Amino acid sequence: MTRKFFVCGNWKMNGSKKSIGELIQTLNTAKLDPNVEVVCAAPAIYLELTRSELDPKFSVAAQNCYIVPSGGFTGEISPAMIKDCGMDWVILGHSTRRHIFGESNEFIGQKIAHAQENDLGVIVCIGETREEKEKGITDQVIFAQMKAIADNVKDWSKVVLAYEPVWAIGTGKTASPQQAQEVHDKLREWLKTNVSEAVANSVRIIYGGSVTGGTCKELASQKDVDGFLVGGASLKPEFIDIINAKA
Ligand code: PGA
Repeated sequence: MTRKFFVCGNWKMNGSKKSIGELIQTLNTAKLDPNVEVVCAAPAIYLELTRSELDPKFSVAAQNCYIVPSGGFTGEISPAMIKDCGMDWVILGHSTRRHIFGESNEFIGQKIAHAQENDLGVIVCIGETREEKEKGITDQVIFAQMKAIADNVKDWSKVVLAYEPVWAIGTGKTASPQQAQEVHDKLREWLKTNVSEAVANSVRIIYGGSVTGGTCKELASQKDVDGFLVGGASLKPEFIDIINAKA
């Protein structure tokens, strides 16, 4: 079973028309491994700009969405709107959403279900905090997150799982290739037991958390690491090296 390598740049709440324009120029003209699926997750207000300027070979993702199509939900955007403006993906369950905005496993599950009803691909993030890791409860935490995901997914072909240990995000402390591989392997085993062997073999499990041009190659060589979710480094030219990690 070959799983196409998947690299998503998560720009978070960064950029301006000018800097995003420059980043897009860099991406559009870069020499990239053709065997990699590349997605850029732009801030909501720059989604259409990104979609219109980025070469069509790249996909564009929103960084969040709400759970109903429309209505009195000030400040929210719906999957139908994201789709209407030409995006194909949405990131859900990012640690920012879980730990700063207090989103629960159940709420993230509702978002996944609604995004799938609207035919959006979902990049779903899971991962333990430093305290949870130190308490030795990583498995318990990530499997509970997985259950809430699996309870809501209808079409696994449109799901990418992102393992992002919270202690590694934006901290410069990348998980070692062995640490990442160990958790990715456990996640695949969990899918095999709780969903199906076919899904376990075909779903892409990408790693996120301080991935850089320097750390990407060894991480990418791990058997169950199928790509990256990249924050800080996705705003820099080294994002190209990360896309080409397997080339
Ligand atoms: P980072 O962010 O690469 O800056 O650690 C990753 C993420 O939050 O998706």
